[in-house]
Amino acid sequence: MTTMLFDQIVFGPVKSRRLGISLGVNLLPINGKLCNFDCVYCECGLNNDSKALNKTLPKRDEVFSALESKLFAMLQNHETPDVITFAGNGEPTMHPQFAEIIDDTIVLRNLYFPNSLISVLSNATMLHKQNVVSALKKVDQNILKLDSGKLSTIERINQPVGNYNLQTKIGELKQFNGKLIIQTMFTRGIVNNVIFDNTTIDDLQLWENIVTEVKPEKVMIYTIDRNTPVDGLKKISVEELTTIATRLEKHSIEVQVSG
Ligand code: SF4
Repeated sequence: MTTMLFDQIVFGPVKSRRLGISLGVNLLPINGKLCNFDCVYCECGLNNDSKALNKTLPKRDEVFSALESKLFAMLQNHETPDVITFAGNGEPTMHPQFAEIIDDTIVLRNLYFPNSLISVLSNATMLHKQNVVSALKKVDQNILKLDSGKLSTIERINQPVGNYNLQTKIGELKQFNGKLIIQTMFTRGIVNNVIFDNTTIDDLQLWENIVTEVKPEKVMIYTIDRNTPVDGLKKISVEELTTIATRLEKHSIEVQVSG
C-alpha cells in the first residue's frame, strides 16, 4: 500500500483524531524515514523502503525559524493550534538536539500561543538518555508507545532495531511518575503466514499489568486509520477497543478510544 512522508520541518496544521488541531514538527529527514522501530503499520513505510537515501536531520536553528515563521503566520491569520506535535518521519527523540529544540519550542509557544499544548509522539526507545527524559518531562503531553506487554508481540509488530528489554522499559516509563500518556495501536492480521495480533487474551493481560504498574495519566488506544506498508493488517472495531478500555477504566485509568 502507499505510505507517506512529510516533506517539511513544520507541517499542517492538521485535524488529528487524537490531539485536535495539530501543528506538526518533523525532526527527521524530509527525504526518508529514520526510526529505531520498524512497525508493520508505520504510515511512513518500512525502514528498508528509504534505506538508500542520503538522510539529513534538520538543524536546531532551521527548526526554530520554520516553527517561528509558521506560528507568526497562524497568528496573523487568527488560527490557533490546539497542540504543537513532534511526530513526522520517524522517532523525534533520535534527533541529537531534541532537548534543546524542546526548550526552543516552549519559548516560541509561550510567545505566540501560550494556551497551546506541546506534545511528543515517541516510541520510548531513547529513555536511557537523561536529556531526553528531562525534555519529555517539560512537555504537556509525553505520549509514549507500548503496543503490547509481550516481548514476542513487540518484536513482531514494532520490529525494534537492536535489543528491546521489556523490564528495562517498564523501569524507564516509571521514571515519569505518572506524567506520561501511553499510546497503543491495536491491530491483527495474518501476513505471509505470520500472525500479527496484540489483542490476544495473553497480550492484553500483560499490557494491562504493565500499564497499571506505570500508572500513566492517560492511555490512548487506537487502530489503523490509513494505509500501512504491510497489506492485510485489520482495523479493530470501536466496540472491541471500548471493551479493551474497560480493562484500564476499572483501575481508574483514563482511556481515550480512537477508532
Ligand atoms: S515508532 Fe512510529 S515512526 Fe517508528 S516505525 Fe513505529 S510508527 Fe513508524
